[in-house]
Amino acid sequence: MRDEDIRSSCFNSLAVLCAQFGDDVPYKDGLDRGFAFRGTRVPFLTYQKGIYRAAAQRGPAALSINTSYVSPYEDEQTDAGFLYAYRAGSIDQPDNRALRAACELQVPLVYFIGTRPGWYRPVFPSYVIADDPAARRVTVGVGVMAGPLDDQEAVIAEDPIERRYAVRQTRTRLHQARFRGRVLPAYGSQCAICRLKEARLLDASHILGDLDERGDAVVSNGLSLCSIHHRAFDQDLVGVSPDYEVRVAPRLLEDEDGPMLELLKGFNGQPIVVPKRRSWQPDRNRLAARFDRFVAAS
Ligand SMILES: [Zn+2]
Repeated sequence: MRDEDIRSSCFNSLAVLCAQFGDDVPYKDGLDRGFAFRGTRVPFLTYQKGIYRAAAQRGPAALSINTSYVSPYEDEQTDAGFLYAYRAGSIDQPDNRALRAACELQVPLVYFIGTRPGWYRPVFPSYVIADDPAARRVTVGVGVMAGPLDDQEAVIAEDPIERRYAVRQTRTRLHQARFRGRVLPAYGSQCAICRLKEARLLDASHILGDLDERGDAVVSNGLSLCSIHHRAFDQDLVGVSPDYEVRVAPRLLEDEDGPMLELLKGFNGQPIVVPKRRSWQPDRNRLAARFDRFVAAS
């Protein structure tokens, strides 16, 4: 038996939460509100355990699964999707039955992946695309919502190449979200250059990008920057010297075009904010390599 109605109510309510909070949603005062379904409130997940089937459901398949921030998801994936382990105990205990039924019935569910303490990235629609009882785990693939805006339907691509693409994209975004979740708090959630403290306007930028062998997602390879400074840093319009000083590109300094630009120019020669903890401070060697590029570009 399928239970499409409760799944669409769940996805619609999640879309509203994502519109409110962004790609990541807090558990407290967010997901813990649950969603409305036929006059009752239904929880999205139970964070005490990973696999969740709502009492209001008629079908046997799980409605959501979750992985907390502390469990390392990085090693638990293949090209086809995310590997998700059964619960301890019999492979036929209720949670495992619900997980495996999602594979048999090919129904869409939500995969809540922890991106920072107390926050989840709801990946939906997700599908349990393979079940491996011997290894006691399933593979979770990533689908899309398709069709007209007011009547969207969850689907997963037939084509394995498209499926792999969706997984890779999700994984990249998750990496970025987790990097942001570590870098921003290290800087007291402010822009290292202008000290802006509006979290929704802050990004974690890489000093050296993914393509560089030193471009890993450690806090010392990051800078917390507001959207404008992030963009300017990426475009080599603003640089940060290895001694933590802001440099504005000469071509920007020579420009005269209104108060916003004057504001940007005003940070030239100013020190950046750095985290108190030494291991979190921007790595001077990485900054030097990046600063060479800035100098060459300007
Ligand atoms: Zn800024």
